[in-house]
Amino acid sequence: MRKANIFINSKLAGSLEETVSGYIFRYDPAYAGSYNSLPVSLTMPLTQLEHTSKSLHHVFNGLIPEGLLLDIAQTKLNLETKDRMGLLLALCRDNIGAIEVHHEETNDKISVTGQLHSIPPEDINRDNIPKHGFCLCCLKPLNAIGENFNYHPECSLQLFGSKTPPVLDLSETTFESIVGEQLGMKMSLTGVQIKFSGNIVSLAKRQTHIFPNQYIIKPDPINENYKQLAIFEQLCMHLSRSLRLRTAESGLLYLPNGYPVFITKRFDRAKSGKISVEDFTQIFFKTEGHDKYMGSIEQIVQGIRKYCGRFALPNIQELYKVTVLNYLIGNADNHFRNFSLVYQKPGDELLVSLAPFYDLVPSKFYVARDKEETALSISGKKKTIGRAGFVQLAEYCRLPVKELDETLGRFDTLLAKIPIWLDDLGIRQKDDFSHLINERLKLLRRE
Ligand SMILES: [Zn+2]
Repeated sequence: MRKANIFINSKLAGSLEETVSGYIFRYDPAYAGSYNSLPVSLTMPLTQLEHTSKSLHHVFNGLIPEGLLLDIAQTKLNLETKDRMGLLLALCRDNIGAIEVHHEETNDKISVTGQLHSIPPEDINRDNIPKHGFCLCCLKPLNAIGENFNYHPECSLQLFGSKTPPVLDLSETTFESIVGEQLGMKMSLTGVQIKFSGNIVSLAKRQTHIFPNQYIIKPDPINENYKQLAIFEQLCMHLSRSLRLRTAESGLLYLPNGYPVFITKRFDRAKSGKISVEDFTQIFFKTEGHDKYMGSIEQIVQGIRKYCGRFALPNIQELYKVTVLNYLIGNADNHFRNFSLVYQKPGDELLVSLAPFYDLVPSKFYVARDKEETALSISGKKKTIGRAGFVQLAEYCRLPVKELDETLGRFDTLLAKIPIWLDDLGIRQKDDFSHLINERLKLLRRE
């Protein structure tokens, strides 16, 4: 029977063992007794040393990649989808969050990093790189069209650590091999879309400051049906930031051939180490197949109440506002995997909060079957939610109804800018997107 050692932020936390009847996770007594240790999952407290489960514990099962990444991994490693322990051992040494899975016998703690090369500025042919009037990080006007590869120097400095943004040395044909290589290095990024994590190695003479695996990079899907998703994602992330919601830092880059790539800074990596993250599929034991769509926003509210304790209210407020935003932008892919809790223990108390928002996309324009307005039901509905549904949700959240009107009011201030951004970014579905937003705003406004 196979066994794994589980590390949290590079400390041995315990062991996971496959048994005849299921799986046992045992905390290392010294780890469990240590003052500032974090649990492996919010659902597996340190007060109980042994946690048994018939199937692989959801916190571990949720680390295994899905979709395209899983397909590539399986082809490369010849593993079955149902061999969860095999996949965990093969793919999940380094994950989103602080958990590391090591094979018991090869208890090596090699730190692996995906490296993405940046082309030296003097070698870049800028002809194929689209030029914008707005900064691709903050979406505020640039002094000149296409200036500094479409970035304000201060925005580039904040996101990439250098005043000039990198030009990544990738090509469409190498995406798959990079992902394959990364999986071979046992780094797992869950999610269906192709994406990978890495740091940016600048080949320029002035080397910039780099953290290992600081970014998640999502090239625009090659499939024609998903074109411009990377560009749309940056716009939606910006709309979230504009509503002053805690949102993962992000930007848009172009490859030398003009191909767009969405890039986001990982919020689970800090100078101090890895930050514990758990998504709601792991917390709610919904890591199997389509379970991530089976549930409601109200369940997330309950999850926040349960785990964030006295800090629940501001987190519920953020969740409420992003739910309004998701409705307005046509994001019906807001399933349990796309919401996470982060936790730290700076003192005696475990501090849990909602993770910054990520994966904000107008799925309505990409998924033909997406007739639904939300992946997780709102006030018992997935369609025709309307103002009544959002008022009811506010009540459930114990928020005043003015929370809805204030969010809409703040969104109104963006309305004039959205068509200008859509134009500048060259988004093909700009009219449909503007139309959707205006229609849905009408539905949410007080009659
Ligand atoms: Zn900027």
